[in-house]
Amino acid sequence: MSNRSRSFDVAVVGAGVIGLAVGWRAAERGLKVLVLERGAESARETSSVAAGMLAPISEALATELPLMRLGIASVAAYPEFLNDLTEASEGADLGYLTCGTLLAARDADEAESLARELELRQSLGLPVNRLRGSEARRLEPALAPTLRLALEIPDDHAIDPRKLTAALARALKNKGGELRTRASVAEVTVEHDRVTGVRLADGTDVTADNVVVAAGPWSSALDGIPAGASIPVHPIKGQILRLHDPAGPGLLTRVLRMTGGYLVPRGDGRYVLGATMEERGFETTVTAGGAFELLRNAFELLPSVTELVIDELSAGLRPATPDNAPAIGPGAIPGLHWATGHFRHGILLTPITAALVAGGLMGETVPDEFAPTRFAMVAA
Ligand SMILES: Cc1cc2nc3c(=O)[nH]c(=O)nc-3n(C[C@H](O)[C@H](O)[C@H](O)COP(=O)(O)OP(=O)(O)OC[C@H]3O[C@@H](n4cnc5c(N)ncnc54)[C@H](O)[C@@H]3O)c2cc1C
Repeated sequence: MSNRSRSFDVAVVGAGVIGLAVGWRAAERGLKVLVLERGAESARETSSVAAGMLAPISEALATELPLMRLGIASVAAYPEFLNDLTEASEGADLGYLTCGTLLAARDADEAESLARELELRQSLGLPVNRLRGSEARRLEPALAPTLRLALEIPDDHAIDPRKLTAALARALKNKGGELRTRASVAEVTVEHDRVTGVRLADGTDVTADNVVVAAGPWSSALDGIPAGASIPVHPIKGQILRLHDPAGPGLLTRVLRMTGGYLVPRGDGRYVLGATMEERGFETTVTAGGAFELLRNAFELLPSVTELVIDELSAGLRPATPDNAPAIGPGAIPGLHWATGHFRHGILLTPITAALVAGGLMGETVPDEFAPTRFAMVAA
């Protein structure tokens, strides 16, 4: 026999950055929200590993322009999102750094490919400046003299995801939302083709008019969702190093991106050096080879990276869909909503995802470019 729990307007499965932000924005709109997290604490999975780049222009791909536009809209939404969050979390430090980004080329081949990246961005009217090696080194004197070419992207910034998620958890509670940890959702319950809530692994039933699946790379693992209504999400492992400079801040002031990696300054002498891309299922071991790859890539452009102190080597699982784009909004059965599949851009896409999903929960129309039902249609 199953236990009964109180009933809610919305049950959110997963308290990563996405589940917390959706829960907070929904609570802010007056909905009775419960966020369920199977871990002992919120945001200890992928979201705590992320570097925190907010970089839709640096990451733009000619094959993924709708995703780039979504990212640019999310960057534009960030300042207001953070203002609201500062207020709702009673002044929590969010670690937002308006630092800009440099894309750097180490040799002639990389310079050629960077020139093509420049063309793409210019053709789209995006803000980008071409810098000779010497010009880039004037901005960032620690860069190696071998630097061939750089692109400055002044609008791509960064945030500290650990500070962001801590603030979101506070904001959720301050707005009347409930966060329940050690609560593993086993099943989405469905009656007469409509969602009725969730059942936890311990047998507790939670009644909710709506369920938002925000379980990151585990979003496909819930029972109860009819096959054609599920979203295919798979994990892409990323290893990442956290470092600090005993001499304090200043070694690098902008995000530095290079072939195979990036170095993100936190502004206080701490740096994040990422990240590998590995298809290894749900395993998160960290390896000497992973650390070597990251350091080797960074060392060629920033030799003094070897002076930094290693604080942490960790691995996370990016939640990827077959088309590398997220699933945002109502799903294929009434009451089922998705906020998943954010792959490499979950921190970037947090404000826009939270706004769209909260809007969908209120009955507003969600643009169908990233509709979860695109996968349901494939399945059908
Ligand atoms: C190395 C690395 C670097 C990255 N860098 C960036 C970056 O610079 N910028 C950027 O925008 N993005 C970046 N990303 C991507 C970003 O981290 C993810 O897109 C984002 O964190 C996904 O958030 P999420 O909330 O969907 O998933 P998660 O953070 O994984 O949260 C999902 C939560 O759901 C919980 N859960 C799962 N199943 C259940 C269940 N059955 N019941 C209850 N709870 C459950 C989990 O315990 C977890 O807490 C990076 C990712 C990696 C790995």
